[in-house]
Amino acid sequence: MTGGQVVRDVVVIGGGQSGLAAGYFLRRANTDFEILDAHDRPGGAWPDAWDSLKLFSPAQTSSLPGWPMPPTAGGYPTRDHVVDYLSAYEQRYGLPVQRPVRVKDVLRATHALSVRTDRGIWLAKAVISATGGAGQPFIPPVSGRMMFRGRQLHSSAYRSPDEFAGQSVLVVGGGNSGAQILAEVSKVAATAWVTTEQPRFLPDDVDGRVLFERATARVRAELDGHAPEAEPGSLGDIVMVPALREARERGVLGTVLPFSRFTHDGVMWPDGTRVAVDAVIWCTGFRPALGHLSHLGVLEADGRVAVRQGRAVRQPRLWMLGYGEWTGAASATLAGITRNARDTVQAVLQSIGGVEGAGP
Ligand code: FAD
Repeated sequence: MTGGQVVRDVVVIGGGQSGLAAGYFLRRANTDFEILDAHDRPGGAWPDAWDSLKLFSPAQTSSLPGWPMPPTAGGYPTRDHVVDYLSAYEQRYGLPVQRPVRVKDVLRATHALSVRTDRGIWLAKAVISATGGAGQPFIPPVSGRMMFRGRQLHSSAYRSPDEFAGQSVLVVGGGNSGAQILAEVSKVAATAWVTTEQPRFLPDDVDGRVLFERATARVRAELDGHAPEAEPGSLGDIVMVPALREARERGVLGTVLPFSRFTHDGVMWPDGTRVAVDAVIWCTGFRPALGHLSHLGVLEADGRVAVRQGRAVRQPRLWMLGYGEWTGAASATLAGITRNARDTVQAVLQSIGGVEGAGP
């Protein structure tokens, strides 16, 4: 501490899988660093996921650098298995995670960035922002939304189907969250699946591993100056996990186009038909939660930060890690974060003249 400020070479904001992966490589290079995490417990966004959530990749391809995720007995790892793994991971490597510490602002300082938090100020030569996407659930604007007297919740607040038993429920959103939540709610409730376009279902034998291999091939092709192969399958396409195959057997995976407005007890479809519903579950994704960077002059009109290989174009002391394809191929997945974190840490250390190389 110097004059009420902690001085570090590198500060990582966020202690989820991305922040921990960066921490692994920083620790390996003997860097002077700290990880600041807003949550009061380990695991990043994972403890907030719904009860039945399972990974769509097996444990062996869902590991952070250094220590493989322990295998699971029954197929793909559960939410709680991932949380246990991330908790044990930070212990194992003695990662210096400070929590709960919420970063409120990052500002320019002399030869450094000033990281302002609810627990004081950190000064760092470089900052890696790894705050994930879960902090800002997105619900699209729909006319009359406030007049609807039924229940509305975002997938981030969804826990289990039990509370919807016997109800009439709309599940909105054509990605993996929407598909998985629909699959279980449709067992206990009358459901309709509302999507703007036909969801893209992957073949039954394609899981997260294959998607990651394809993302890797696309990166390699781009690095080699070739046009990436037009192979089907992106990380947003729907993985046919067992629960979804079972839902397909029950014939509940059909979709309807979006309703045009809410009424007080339901929704109105574009042809004027009204239907009463008890609940609407918005599986409509997240927006990057980058409010802590708003005074740094780096946020673009779309709410993102312009980056070149993870480094902010407008602020060379700032690096963005783990937010999805715009910060690196497959960077928002356990399978993809190792490569992204390694490359980011190498570049950060070079930029601040620290120890060379973060290792393999
Ligand atoms: P997070 O886990 O969100 O962690 C960010 C951390 O930053 C949090 O602890 C938060 O408290 C902290 N933070 C945020 N703002 C601040 C701030 N201002 N100051 C300090 N700290 C802050 N991923 C996979 O890898 N494999 C899968 O098979 C997989 N399956 C999925 C299936 C479904 C249906 C869904 C919905 C998601 C799935 N995911 C999967 C995605 C995964 O849940 C997220 O991508 C992952 O949690 C992102 O990790 P992260 O560390 O970047 O962010």
